[in-house]
Amino acid sequence: MIFVTGGAGFIGSNFVLSWLAQQDESVLNFDKLTYAGNLNNLVTVRDNPQHIFVQGDICDTELLHALFAKHQPRAILHFAAESHVDRSIHGPAAFVTTNVNGTFSLLEAARAYWNGLEGESKADFRFLHVSTDEVYGTLSAEDPPFTETTAYAPNSPYSASKAASDHLVRAYHHTYGMPVLTTNCSNNYGAYHFPEKLIPLIITNARAGKDLPVYGDGQQVRDWLFVTDHCTAIRRVLEAGRPGETYNVGGWNEQTNLSVVHTICDLLDELQPKAAGSYRDQIRHIKDRPGHDRRYAIDARKIERELGWKPAETFETGLRKTVQWYLDNDAWVSDVQSGDYMKWVDLQYSNK
Ligand code: NAD
Repeated sequence: MIFVTGGAGFIGSNFVLSWLAQQDESVLNFDKLTYAGNLNNLVTVRDNPQHIFVQGDICDTELLHALFAKHQPRAILHFAAESHVDRSIHGPAAFVTTNVNGTFSLLEAARAYWNGLEGESKADFRFLHVSTDEVYGTLSAEDPPFTETTAYAPNSPYSASKAASDHLVRAYHHTYGMPVLTTNCSNNYGAYHFPEKLIPLIITNARAGKDLPVYGDGQQVRDWLFVTDHCTAIRRVLEAGRPGETYNVGGWNEQTNLSVVHTICDLLDELQPKAAGSYRDQIRHIKDRPGHDRRYAIDARKIERELGWKPAETFETGLRKTVQWYLDNDAWVSDVQSGDYMKWVDLQYSNK
């Protein structure tokens, strides 16, 4: 069995679904079900006996102890986090609680469990920490992409809390010898992405006839990776990564935010044309996010060289699949767009 935290969120649920589709090994899915956790992401595995869902908080070390003792996982994959940069600007406390204290609590429970293992079970155990490229800070247009040795320089409360969690994970390897692995990945996109993030926000707003908000000049550059490619990278690192190592994961696919928005509008113009005009007509530039990092880019050569992983999707193929998924899943979208969600989106993008 593997133990997944945050498996009802965007990446975690994609991971759980692909794991159960490809592997005859059960998953304990441990998730607090915050606003970002959604059991509707997991309806297709609801009756699968290999999927055990437990609602709980990673800060609850005692519950984690009990679950590890009962289910004896061979690996812990840690996706759970507060993950939205804008929310971290409005309310950083939850980010420190979950991303820093919660990761610490999970590490402590994992260490006690791992200490009690023997022989092969102990040697083969892995703790895989899922992190972000945002810990490296921002790049100028001329800088080379981030490598695994780039110094950490997080700029938002979100990235600072993730950086802190990465350091704790690293320290548990150096201090206690725990077999940990860390992945630092660029921006993901794909199915089940909560529509507060750029790509699903643009798709859902465009279809609803609303403004398409673009921060500042829209020239911020991000690397984008289709979520299932991230999931295959995590599986590969779990299988063959060297304990104590970190692996950058990216799509070799730098795009400005404005060009992402243009591409989505063009795809929608093709797949679901408006009665008149283009979706591009709905684009509105709004006040930039404070401290907005200008450019992230990932050098993913280490994971390719050492573990033979490469993304399968290009941005064009991945984005087309993503837009089509949102067109095909209106019920999922309307369900997540509850009153609370809309209040948050109105606050965030109101330019106030
Ligand atoms: P998400 O916000 O969609 O999901 C997070 C999940 O964690 C939710 O299901 C939520 O209920 C759960 N959770 C939050 N606090 C919890 C707690 N205290 N205890 C238990 N569960 C809790 O996030 P995501 O986009 O799927 O990201 C998953 C991980 O990948 C995060 O660690 C994030 O930092 C990292 N990451 C994300 C991206 C991206 O582009 N989304 C890129 C690189 C890395």
